[in-house]
Amino acid sequence: MDSMDNRYTAELDFPAAFAVPARCPACGEQELFNAGTEGEPLFECAACAIGWWWESGMLVRTSTPCASD
Ligand SMILES: [Zn+2]
Repeated sequence: MDSMDNRYTAELDFPAAFAVPARCPACGEQELFNAGTEGEPLFECAACAIGWWWESGMLVRTSTPCASD
């Protein structure tokens, strides 16, 4: 029989998910500065001023703050 307390712990190691974005996907500018707060991985390009969310290891372009769905 299998023991129910035979548990395993996995070391989650995915540094890419926490790495700082390398460059702006829109214009290629390498200077992205953190425009968010803790828990809000928002970056803004220094060249084209596009905001990017750092989500699931990739940059996702933000919509304008005043845009309505
Ligand atoms: Zn840019």
